[in-house]
Amino acid sequence: MTHPPETQPDSRQITRFAPSPTGPLHLGHAYSALIAAERARAGTFHLRIEDIDTSRARPEWEERIFDDLHWLGLRWPVPVMRQSERLASYRMALRRLWEDGLLYRCTCRRRDIEAALSAPQEGAPLHGPDGLIYPGTCRESGDRGPARPMPEDGVLRLDMGRAVARTGALTFRETGSGPNGETGDIALDPQEVLRTTGDIILARRDMGTSYHLSVVIDDAEQNITEVTRGQDLFEATRIHVVLQALLGLPTPVFHHHRLIRDDHGKRLAKRDDARAIAAYRAEGATPADIRRIVGL
Ligand code: GLU
Ligand code: ZN
Repeated sequence: MTHPPETQPDSRQITRFAPSPTGPLHLGHAYSALIAAERARAGTFHLRIEDIDTSRARPEWEERIFDDLHWLGLRWPVPVMRQSERLASYRMALRRLWEDGLLYRCTCRRRDIEAALSAPQEGAPLHGPDGLIYPGTCRESGDRGPARPMPEDGVLRLDMGRAVARTGALTFRETGSGPNGETGDIALDPQEVLRTTGDIILARRDMGTSYHLSVVIDDAEQNITEVTRGQDLFEATRIHVVLQALLGLPTPVFHHHRLIRDDHGKRLAKRDDARAIAAYRAEGATPADIRRIVGL
């Protein structure tokens, strides 16, 4: 297969595959991991375990992830980075944002948020990359930095209005494509980012961090030059680019790839055990078979 020149990876890319050990790897994960390794070429392919959700992550799943990926022929530097071991770095970043007056404490329950959103606001989207767009109930409560100390637990939200006022217009480079064919240099309009994402959670209850915060800190820590992942995360990229700017971290290139779907056109989920790599292995499939099935 030949690629147009702009999608050709640089020979020294640092890429990663970052699964959450909450279930079996399926064909979609295999595709994602193989793409990331292929795009690293002579560079480095990292495996990172995203296990901040300790209520769902299991060491057994982590073992099986290693095993399936080895079987597929992938190799990566060890020790692997495990997000559950990096909470201190995440808290440090949160403290910086708190001191900058960009975070506030949110005490809303889900039903409070739903009730606040039941009064329709004309033209405002209800959902963003992170689910319901927060109506801002706690934003003016005053429980924010730097005047107050950062709470050690509970929910912290990013004041996106202040955040984008600080960052101004941003851009990132996409070498794959978003769900609507977005590719090349993509401009982020601050007001549009605010409108479509709102005040997202950066520290979740009982977790002390969030996917968005952890992923940008770890991509920077591992010097990732190209973030390869499924198109389902394309919309979240604007959040990541804003966080990188606020934290003074480099913005890598992004490569979003197509999603592997089942026979009904639905994207595969963790519970799709029938598409688990382990199920194909048990039936005697080879790594070459897996590549062929996902179209590589
Ligand atoms: N851990 C995320 C997942 O399993 C992927 C994060 C990313 O690639 O940015 O969906
Ligand atoms: Zn709130």
